[in-house]
Amino acid sequence: MNAPRRPLVLVGPSGVGKTTIADRLVRMRPDLFALSVSATTRRPRAGERRGHEYVFVSRPVFEQMIADGRLAEWAEVHGEYYGTPAGNLEGLSEDGPVPVLDIDVQGAGQIMKRGTGAFVIFILPPGPAEWIDRLAGRGTESPRAIARRLDTALDELRTAPSFEHFVVNTDLDRTVRRVLAAAAGQPECLKGAPEVAALCSGLEARARSVIRRLKGARKEKT
Ligand code: 5GP
Repeated sequence: MNAPRRPLVLVGPSGVGKTTIADRLVRMRPDLFALSVSATTRRPRAGERRGHEYVFVSRPVFEQMIADGRLAEWAEVHGEYYGTPAGNLEGLSEDGPVPVLDIDVQGAGQIMKRGTGAFVIFILPPGPAEWIDRLAGRGTESPRAIARRLDTALDELRTAPSFEHFVVNTDLDRTVRRVLAAAAGQPECLKGAPEVAALCSGLEARARSVIRRLKGARKEKT
């Protein structure tokens, strides 16, 4: 496979498995890909190391990074800032790995407008059941909080038509193979727009009925 020379952006709604796909790509082909480490104001989760999963910073520090133009893109996701340091996309060597960005849809839009030459792939969930289960999380949140998270994910899903390349994450190995092939210039591995539209409307219908049920749930935990 020819080395891709364009930064690779994985975008898609929360809970679709972007981080797992990015990690797998980098582990399989460290010669081709390196993770782009974002800055964020959210707190580290158990097991996350500073400077590895994220550069964890305070809100004033993040706001200064924005003011200084040190971010290639940034967005507020679930009330926290996330952004890609501009340096992650600069000074790429001729034969070194390209950065893989795992970012939200707002950030991907900014990257596309910036003319970075990035190859952007929208990752879709295979169907509603697994996606909604993942989004519903560990059962520690109230039905209302889960409904809010689903609402946000649906907003993200609705941006799909503004992207060009799609991979449905049915099976991790197959997804990674497709992303690799696509990044190497074989976009026939990717889904076409009509298929994507049909998949999205099925996901949306199911998610909407779950949201209605959650909002109507009488038992509130919070
Ligand atoms: P998490 O907090 O679960 O790691 O990430 C939450 C969301 O933020 C995910 O959709 C992830 O893709 C997105 N995200 C992570 N880093 C960045 C970034 O640098 N920029 C933007 N725009 N989104 C990001």
